Amino acid sequence: MMIEKTTAPHLTANYHTHTTRCRHASGSDREYIETAIRAGIKILGFADHAPLVNDIGFVSHMRMYTELAEDYACTLAALKKEYAGDIDIYIGYELEYYPQFFDMTVEYLCRFPVDYFIIGQHYIENETSYRHAGIKVAEEWYLRAYVDQIVAGLETGLFSCVAHPDLMDFMGADDVYDRHMTRLCETAKRLSVPLEFNIPRRFAFWHEPVMHFWDIARAVGNDVILGCDAHEPGMLCEADSYRESLEILAGHGIVPMETMPLAKPHFPYRTHP
Ligand SMILES: [Zn+2]
Ligand SMILES: [Zn+2]
Repeated sequence: MMIEKTTAPHLTANYHTHTTRCRHASGSDREYIETAIRAGIKILGFADHAPLVNDIGFVSHMRMYTELAEDYACTLAALKKEYAGDIDIYIGYELEYYPQFFDMTVEYLCRFPVDYFIIGQHYIENETSYRHAGIKVAEEWYLRAYVDQIVAGLETGLFSCVAHPDLMDFMGADDVYDRHMTRLCETAKRLSVPLEFNIPRRFAFWHEPVMHFWDIARAVGNDVILGCDAHEPGMLCEADSYRESLEILAGHGIVPMETMPLAKPHFPYRTHP
């Protein structure tokens, strides 16, 4: 296939691409792929919101239905072959560490083709209490739960990166924030898991980076990777946002890596000590 490429410097790889299956993204799978090719992206990882497989009849509002995982994985596996000459496609999921449902979710996802997981902890506890992680929070226990769950997730060895680790907008004391986020960063460092700097968007409501978090990551010496949390194909060709992200990080002494190693998920898994 001949798709004309733009020449503006842009991501080499993006590991955080969504699809419509999560019910809050738009565009076809092919539109994401062809937009990425046009933008000069060489590696395109899909990491749509994994289903929350559970045995209590809970239906999450922000992720694919359990029955769609097979379609997701098998459709992407076919597209991976079809576009192999133009771009490397990987099949991933963005998921949380929810202690009550994690094993059954991983067991289910591993039945179909899968290349990697990223941890994006959108809620604390098991999601069923609807305590979102991306809100203004002043209580230490809430921040501690967020960090504890990411740390426990990383220790399974199943995750290839931490998506938007700075998601929480903590309003409490700086020393409390530093203590818990240092734990998160040190765990990621020890396990060689990069932290994703979620590319901010200029003209849209989107996650704003918490630069104090990135100062902690810089001090700990974490690997950092840029992630375009694409919920519409056009986001993959926003070279300006990419350039601005590099500038923001450079201002804090961080040079992101261009690609990251992928840990192939498997079940059962063995938790690190
Ligand atoms: Zn999303
Ligand atoms: Zn995402």
